[in-house]
Amino acid sequence: MSVGGARIALVTGASRGIGRAAATALAAAGAHVILVARTTGGLEEADDDIRAAGGNATLVPLDLKDFAALDRLGASIFERWGRLDAFLGNAGVLGALTPLAHLEPKVFDELVQVNVTANWRLIRSLDPLLRRSEAGRALFVSSGPARRPRPFWGGYAMSKAALESLALTYAAECEGTPIKVNLLNPGHVRTAMRAKAMPGEDPDTLPPPEALAPLIVEMLSARWEKNGEVVSFRERRMANGE
Ligand code: NDP
Repeated sequence: MSVGGARIALVTGASRGIGRAAATALAAAGAHVILVARTTGGLEEADDDIRAAGGNATLVPLDLKDFAALDRLGASIFERWGRLDAFLGNAGVLGALTPLAHLEPKVFDELVQVNVTANWRLIRSLDPLLRRSEAGRALFVSSGPARRPRPFWGGYAMSKAALESLALTYAAECEGTPIKVNLLNPGHVRTAMRAKAMPGEDPDTLPPPEALAPLIVEMLSARWEKNGEVVSFRERRMANGE
């Protein structure tokens, strides 16, 4: 399949929620999107939406805890396209909302593996490809608790704080290159993860993931020149009176 001069974008967590909405919006903006998640059905539904809107995608069903597969993914992208223009590190897990002393070791380990290690392994695997782009962009999805520790959210907060440190270090290392690396704090968005965190909340009071997608498209575009920023979607909405 020819993708012409389209930007090549990779989205983790593209099977549902914020990642799926972002992937659909990136494709609508003209990118060829590489969709990564475990759930094949969700990836196929995202692909259907993208095709229905005239876009195209490549599906990569994998578990982000399979770090060797992340190395192979970089090699496959190099063979097929020779570069990567946009990388959205969006996939994440919530773990369990419980006191630190009660957190199961396997839940803690999964938080580190998915929310932190996988993003570092992807930086490691994709950095040479981003460097081959004229305007490589990397965007990582963080969360409020990263900077505001609160009871019961410790495992998730620790993982997002580590992700912020990782991404901001990578941004500093990319200073002076065409690559821009940033973080996005979505605030509260109507997804399965939010419903798991706040089961009593009325989801209709929250913005849908599609509301966040245009900002993600903007932050992954060649027009976005800022580097090392943590952008808050909630603050931007409030500033716009939404
Ligand atoms: P969802 O639970 O709806 O989606 C999470 C995505 O991550 C899914 O596509 C899931 O795919 C993927 N994922 C999880 N574990 C793995 C894994 N081991 N391998 C591959 N993919 C995986 O969550 P959201 O859309 O709400 O969250 C997206 C990001 O936004 C997360 O990083 C979250 O922390 C962050 N965030 C969300 C907020 C909200 O209010 N919704 C607020 C602040 C931050 P699959 O299960 O198919 O593998």
